[in-house]
Amino acid sequence: MDFSLTDAQKEIQARAREFAQTRVAPLSREMDERGEMPRALIDDLARTGLLGGPLPKEFFGGAWDSISLALCYEELGRVDSSVRGFMTVHTSLVAQCILKWGNAAQKKNYLPKLAHGEMIGCYALTEPNAGSDAASIETTAARDGDAYLINGEKIWITNGVVAKKCAAKSWDTARRITRVSFLKICACPRRRVWARKAKGSKSR
Ligand SMILES: Cc1cc2nc3c(=O)[nH]c(=O)nc-3n(C[C@H](O)[C@H](O)[C@H](O)COP(=O)(O)OP(=O)(O)OC[C@H]3O[C@@H](n4cnc5c(N)ncnc54)[C@H](O)[C@@H]3O)c2cc1C
Repeated sequence: MDFSLTDAQKEIQARAREFAQTRVAPLSREMDERGEMPRALIDDLARTGLLGGPLPKEFFGGAWDSISLALCYEELGRVDSSVRGFMTVHTSLVAQCILKWGNAAQKKNYLPKLAHGEMIGCYALTEPNAGSDAASIETTAARDGDAYLINGEKIWITNGVVAKKCAAKSWDTARRITRVSFLKICACPRRRVWARKAKGSKSR
């Protein structure tokens, strides 16, 4: 088996390494101290083509393969684990999830915005009583006219403080299946900070 990288994979690895060293490393200590990632860094990730890397070109991605994406995460994580955490949630758990399971309108609507960093994604699985055991989630999704009413409590959600769009896992009470819903996050009286994730990214 040939494990050598292709030229395209090497180019992505080099681009991510340069970005990590020149753009992330100088900010890393300040991000740790403030517990925040500057908005400009997300814009730079998008401009450098890293944010939407694995998305198809029609959605302003780079059509990367999985090895390229892993190389990008590896390079960012070498310098700052929180920036990698931000991207693994935003790009993989949310954008790639929409690409795989979203309908055509959701893809058209959300993927370009996620690739450009106009919209920040988060993925809400974990709850106070359910972590690794995703089958024990207590959040419910009940049909309410044309919409679903989602009720429950989530914790440890990377980007939860800043995200506008959330992929949330819940139990469909009528169909008795778990579903992932793409939710617009709006003002919610119970939304509060539970904990700050390690280093510069924030969880809710
Ligand atoms: C920095 C950070 C960011 C996070 N971001 C997100 C996020 O964006 N979205 C989100 O939904 N969640 C997020 N989480 C939550 C994370 O996914 C959960 O912490 C994880 O699912 C583990 O759940 P838990 O903490 O409840 O531990 P538990 O599930 O209670 O596990 C506790 C221990 O038991 C072990 N264990 C569990 N099940 C078994 C089993 N069947 N057999 C043997 N051993 C077992 C585990 O390995 C672990 O050592 C984040 C967590 C951290 C620390």
